[in-house]
Parts: sequence; structure tokens; C-alpha cells
Amino acid sequence: GYWTIGSQNYQPQEMATFSMFNLRPMEVWKWYIYRHKVCNQVAPNAGHYALVEMENILKDRFSLITQNVDGLHKRAGNSVQRTFCIHGNLEFCRCSHECTETLYPFPKINPDRDKEADLSETDLKKLYCPRCNELLRPHILWFDERYNENYYKLQSSLALAKQSDILFLIGTSGITNLPYHVMKNAGDANSYIVEINPAETNFTSSVAAYEKGFIVREPSSTVLPKFLEAFKKVM
Ligand SMILES: [Zn+2]
Repeated sequence: GYWTIGSQNYQPQEMATFSMFNLRPMEVWKWYIYRHKVCNQVAPNAGHYALVEMENILKDRFSLITQNVDGLHKRAGNSVQRTFCIHGNLEFCRCSHECTETLYPFPKINPDRDKEADLSETDLKKLYCPRCNELLRPHILWFDERYNENYYKLQSSLALAKQSDILFLIGTSGITNLPYHVMKNAGDANSYIVEINPAETNFTSSVAAYEKGFIVREPSSTVLPKFLEAFKKVM
């Protein structure tokens, strides 16, 4: 939801920007510290666990391109090397001055803090780059930033789609352009494309018109375990 600074309410689209980080870095940090805590209170669902089992079966033939920043795929057990977090991952932070591309674990902040309170001296110290002492930032692709390879695996994701045999579009609305290009590349590669979503999305008409396209109107948490059973029978 929104975040309050003084008497002003800010929407996520305003908070999750580099310009806000420039202007109000501590407010952006406090917001992400709160979001990080909320994400950690959520447990992976049956859909997440089905993807872990699929990876275990398919190994290098499996890749997961995810827009989720909540870290749930990793916590469920998908490997870091086969999971492409194209919008970043809230389990990590990095140097805001880019003195290094190294990702650091998200700072361990006092979990009992009041979400809007100023950070304690102890917590504040954890927000600085151990290498250059400039501020760290959450490892998140912000609304006013662009996809790239180094942090967000742009080219890798597109290249992967070009080699895919089956692309599952799971629970994504298709609003941002990278998922759209992933779908297009998979189509160019003559891959099967399966949309799994309880609701119609921006992908639906393309998938429906595609001769190797399938649409499954069910939540991923119920349909992926069923796909997994089928996988297990044929693998
Ligand atoms: Zn640094």
C-alpha cells in the first residue's frame, strides 16, 4: 500500500523510483525494510514448491524468469543460478554508487521496529556499502530505471526464450515489456506457450491466436502441482 511521509501519502509507483531514493533515501529504505518484513511473513505456496520439483527433475533444461521480488522462489528451493529475477530481489541490496556489482544480503534490521520510526544508529550503519561507504540500495528495478543484463538478466532472459521448448506464462499480466518480448521470442522459436492465469491478461489474445498456445484459467497454486504429476509420469 501507500507510504506516509509527514502528511503526504505516496503510492508504490512513487516510492519505488530512483528519483525518490535520491530525494528521500531513508524513507525509501524504511519502506523497503517494512516490505521486506512483510514478504518474510509469507510462505511459499504449492505452486512455488511444484516449480522447485520441476527444476529438480529437469535440471539444466529448466529456467525460471520471475518478476517477483519477494524471494519466495529462492526460499521454496529454486536455485539461484536458474532463477532470473528480472525485477530484482528484495533479499539483496547493492551499492547505490555501483562501486561493485556485488549483491549483499538485505540488511538484518531490528524486526520489532516501528515501521515509520527513524532508524536506530545500529540499523543505520547496516545501510552503507562495506566497500566504499556510500549508501546501499535495495536490489530492485525501480519504475524510472531500465532492464539490464548485469543486475536483471535482460539479454539472458531473451536468449533463453529463443531456445525454449515450452514456455509457461504464470500469473503475469504482461504489462511490462520484457515478459512480452520473452513470449515473442518463444513464439519465434516455435515453442509451446501455456498461459496459466485465473484471469485474462495482455498475453491472452496472442496466446489464443498462436497455434501452439494453450490457456489454463486456474491459479498456479492448484494447476502447477497437477502439471508436476504429469511431468513425473513422463520423465
Ligand atoms: Zn560501494
